[in-house]
Amino acid sequence: MSRSKKKARLSLYEHGNDRCPICLATFSERDVEEGITVTLEHVPPRSVAPEISLGMCLTCVDCNNDAGGGVDQAAAKLIGRQKARVDIQGFPHTAYFGQDGSIKIRGRPEISEESFVKAFEAGETFNVSYHPPQIRYANVSWLKSAYLTVFSLLGRCGYIYAEGSAIRQVREQILKPTEDIICNYAMKTENQGGPDGVLMNRKKRPCWAVKMGQYVVLLPSSRDDSFYRLTKVFGEGNGELGDGPLFFPSKFGKNIATSVEIRDADGVEKAVGADLFGRNGEISSGGKSFPFVVVDYNRQYVSVLFTSWLN
Ligand SMILES: [Zn+2]
Repeated sequence: MSRSKKKARLSLYEHGNDRCPICLATFSERDVEEGITVTLEHVPPRSVAPEISLGMCLTCVDCNNDAGGGVDQAAAKLIGRQKARVDIQGFPHTAYFGQDGSIKIRGRPEISEESFVKAFEAGETFNVSYHPPQIRYANVSWLKSAYLTVFSLLGRCGYIYAEGSAIRQVREQILKPTEDIICNYAMKTENQGGPDGVLMNRKKRPCWAVKMGQYVVLLPSSRDDSFYRLTKVFGEGNGELGDGPLFFPSKFGKNIATSVEIRDADGVEKAVGADLFGRNGEISSGGKSFPFVVVDYNRQYVSVLFTSWLN
């Protein structure tokens, strides 16, 4: 186990990443130190999209493996070059599917070109085995990455987000990739370019939009329970992202989010969560102003992210 990974894990733990964002189990410092049951998760996983780096946090190995293993493989397979196995004259060959619909079969030294051509001319039948990647699994992998990106962005406030009733459905979907708990949450955009990051979508229905390469995943604010009922009815939309600040998070605890408790007497408690999500505000102190955006809200507290310190 490498020293630098251990240091990175302990640093995240000290910044408050002391529970698994997926199952919410508590880590002990010893678990984090040992790195056997707790693991450092790159978001998205390097095996899926090494060129994108949106977040970093600790998850438990069980959640990472059970939830991640199969789903991340499917996501990697779907963006990589698709392959199939073709048996020709008793030897397995690899066939590659091109983006233009072509199929290329790579020859093998054991079979001469001549006998290869002969086999084709003789009308020999070839056995092709192809296991198409499961789109459903791949989508769960992108959902997991999007969720862990927002979680990493929010730091300690990420746990308040995680416990929100709308996000319970997201975490359940990540843990049970074979079940249809939510739907139409991931979409492929035409425009693969443009920066990867988290956008606070405020145009129509307020939500988070996480762009990772050609995938965009929508996540509701923490208590927007009807969000996925709407995506179920109306589909995933056209990939339009709306307006709002675009964040480029790095790792858990790097950005400054804080949760402020609201007392009962001030009357604010009647407001609805979705009303405040995405609102801008600022705190003035010592002649300086610190702009923030509201990331979470309920009767007792408001969570804000200070935008001037964002990396
Ligand atoms: Zn877990």
